Amino acid sequence: MKGIVIKSPSEIGVMRQAGRIVALTLGILAREVRPGMRTAELDAIAQREIERQGAKASFKGYRGFPASVCVSVNEEIVHGIPGERVIEEGDIVSLDLGAIFGGFHGDSTVTVGVGRISPEAARLIETTRGALEAGIDAARDGAYLGDVSAAIQNYAESRGYSVVREYVGHGIGRELHEDPQIPDFGAQGTGPILRRGMTLALEPMVNIGGWRTRVLDNNWTVVTADGSLSAHFEHTIAITNGTAEILTAP
Ligand code: MG
Ligand code: MG
Repeated sequence: MKGIVIKSPSEIGVMRQAGRIVALTLGILAREVRPGMRTAELDAIAQREIERQGAKASFKGYRGFPASVCVSVNEEIVHGIPGERVIEEGDIVSLDLGAIFGGFHGDSTVTVGVGRISPEAARLIETTRGALEAGIDAARDGAYLGDVSAAIQNYAESRGYSVVREYVGHGIGRELHEDPQIPDFGAQGTGPILRRGMTLALEPMVNIGGWRTRVLDNNWTVVTADGSLSAHFEHTIAITNGTAEILTAP
């Protein structure tokens, strides 16, 4: 463990640029998702748009990951590999994207519904988005990291869902994954104290059913053990002397 890296205002300025590239690209992907599309098409768009903006995809080649964007459909939680899977009306699709620009990474995820989705799926998406907002609200100079984790967990569990335990958010900067690890569950008043200049990727992964997961035979894609739907939202944020700044805001 290297410890938590504090960024200077100018470094955060570069991260703002990286975050903007991620946000713009995710916006394009979210608009392009439609029934009948293969998930590989989303990867091609992500690759093209990131390069067009002068950045590089963070995930491509990361520990051997073969694509620029993780596309996780329905019961898939994270690390879905774009390929021949065809997106269908009613699916929910998580798009997890990272880009490196000027030596710094941005990392963000949205889950979108395709066409008409069930009320259950819509409520899951809204809850997961709300859990991220609750986490961001708790991420203030002087707060404990556990306050952030607890805010995410409480928001999701109070609505009857479970939070994933085996995969976590993280510090981010010159490395895609820096200290600290940021679980989607925890207790207030525990863990490191947040300080101005810390840059963090908060990423609630919320399941309709239980929290347990398993990994598919491709050794990447993580799915819910019980097959229930899962949603995922993520922002890269910077701790300030007030409300955290969202560096990957659309
Ligand atoms: Mg991500
Ligand atoms: Mg992340």
